[in-house]
Amino acid sequence: MPELPEVETVRRGLEPEMAGRIIKHTDVRRPDLRWPFPDRMAARLTGQEVLRLRRRSKYILMDLSGGETLLIHLGMSGRMTISPAKDRGHDAPQKHDHVVFDMSTGVRISFNDTRRFGMMDLCDTDLVEKHRLIAGLGPEPLGNAFDQEYLAAKLKASNTPIKSALLDQRLVAGLGNIYVCETLWRARVSPLRKSASLSSKRIALLRSAIRDVLTEAIESGGSSLQDYRQADGELGYFQHSFAVYGREGQPCKTAECGEKIHRIAQAGRSSFYCHKCQR
Ligand SMILES: [Zn+2]
Repeated sequence: MPELPEVETVRRGLEPEMAGRIIKHTDVRRPDLRWPFPDRMAARLTGQEVLRLRRRSKYILMDLSGGETLLIHLGMSGRMTISPAKDRGHDAPQKHDHVVFDMSTGVRISFNDTRRFGMMDLCDTDLVEKHRLIAGLGPEPLGNAFDQEYLAAKLKASNTPIKSALLDQRLVAGLGNIYVCETLWRARVSPLRKSASLSSKRIALLRSAIRDVLTEAIESGGSSLQDYRQADGELGYFQHSFAVYGREGQPCKTAECGEKIHRIAQAGRSSFYCHKCQR
């Protein structure tokens, strides 16, 4: 499932092909994904200039010249493919290409989603922050509002394990299971640790770890799992090396630790951690 760094990678891949370009034609090839598409979606998109592509949590926000914004979520298996302009026209859309944008440059952008947990919606650009899927989100983990004071106040007031707190999208937006596991290992905090019991010093380490882990993943082009592909139209198979995620039974990567990585279930999700390094 794409997490924040992967969504950011897709956004960065799409931006040069879409921003400042006009959507010449939109083909909406089914009535819904996870939810029905908005009314007259193709007509509302066709002819619009894409002003910019932004990201909020795991949503790509495409601001259009007519004053509306297209919200896109990749769900579990959604991906964007970019096909360069072709002299004799593009090949027929492939199975699971649900929405196809033909840009004024001849470039085709296809949204492909085999499992159809993705979504698209349109709303006034002025009202994006009030959209039902956006309104309740906490600050961006890489943004200025996610500062030490904020995180400390939230964690001190929490009575859940730190793993659950960091997955709570109201506390911080866009963190998912993979990067929370990686962050906790880097900060040497056990996923079972009660949030309120962390010292200010450890909260500062945790915050740095969140930002470092996400920034590094974005820089490496995002990780690639299962059927997720890069936005550049290629099968962007980045063999991202995780420190703990998916490494049950393998040795901890801390020098001279010697312990094996454990996997436990927490709130229905797997937590991978080293019970020697992480306290
Ligand atoms: Zn260890």
